[in-house]
Amino acid sequence: MEKDDDLDLKIILWLILFLLFGIIIIFCKPQDRGVIMTVSGPESPDSIGITLEHEHVLVDFIGADSTGYSRWNRDSVINKMLPLILEAKNNGVRTIIECTPAWLGRDPLLLKSLSELSGITFLTNTGYYGARNNLFIPKSFYKEDAGTLADRWISEFENGIDGTGIKPGFIKIGVDPSDSLSPEHVKIITAAALTHLRTGLVIASHTGPDNPAFAQLRILRELGVSPEAFIWVHASRGTLEGNIRAAKSGAWISLDKVHPDSKGEAMSPDSIGWYAGRILALKKNGVLNRILLSHDSGWYDPAIPGGGNPDGYTAIFRYLIPALKSKGLSDKDINQILVENPKKAFRIGIRKL
Ligand SMILES: [Zn+2]
Repeated sequence: MEKDDDLDLKIILWLILFLLFGIIIIFCKPQDRGVIMTVSGPESPDSIGITLEHEHVLVDFIGADSTGYSRWNRDSVINKMLPLILEAKNNGVRTIIECTPAWLGRDPLLLKSLSELSGITFLTNTGYYGARNNLFIPKSFYKEDAGTLADRWISEFENGIDGTGIKPGFIKIGVDPSDSLSPEHVKIITAAALTHLRTGLVIASHTGPDNPAFAQLRILRELGVSPEAFIWVHASRGTLEGNIRAAKSGAWISLDKVHPDSKGEAMSPDSIGWYAGRILALKKNGVLNRILLSHDSGWYDPAIPGGGNPDGYTAIFRYLIPALKSKGLSDKDINQILVENPKKAFRIGIRKL
């Protein structure tokens, strides 16, 4: 009898240990899977609301050799940009994905201040922008292989950017629009793939035409990364057929240059009529659920006294949505593009083939 009691006690103790071990495993697993990483920390994807998926606050074009936080005064940038951000908020915007890369004016602390002052959620990024012939890439890049680059970007995700503790919410890279990728740009997309496989951050790549888009998707595939981890930035520069093919493979199609001065009916890229037509054609082909939409606006320029004349973030609401509705798009369709798609695209999660 006593032996049986001992056995029961042992079983109970083992069960308790097993349970404790399970709880420890649950709490020690990477905490950032399934969330959106904002400049204020992790957030539930369900709370991001209407999202502009490709905008800028400040962009500094002086080049990687000369840029730095001392090039601008944060208060002056806030004075200029806060009213534009509040105007977006008045149009229902809840989240802005800030796409300015490192060495081009990325400033996580500026975004955090703007977030606190406006109530808008901001995301910042890690990665290197190779477009424009690598002008915005630091010299150290040339001595590093893709693995070392990826380690640098992963470290920003794990430890925060430049000692701020603020983590990137996506990977932003850029390649030139040529038909084939340069060795430097192959290295950048490879490093982005490696970073994705470790962090689950989505890869937004400044790309433009079809050929460099598919060249990057091929490299991702070779490394076992699903096209669902790839945002084809400036996809309006690609063909409709290319957009459809990429979207059907799972990639995100970023139609991101809806500008305030583009409400003319001329059917040229950047006009509201052109955007409405492209969105309708994508919907007709069953890929409404892969479209992301934004203005690529903002651009406070520290080289110009007072920052120049940055554009606002409202053309989508003032011109494009009415145009889309007049062509038969429903509120549900618009919600899909502005809320549901970004929610899924920027949700942290490793997407393997
Ligand atoms: Zn941009």
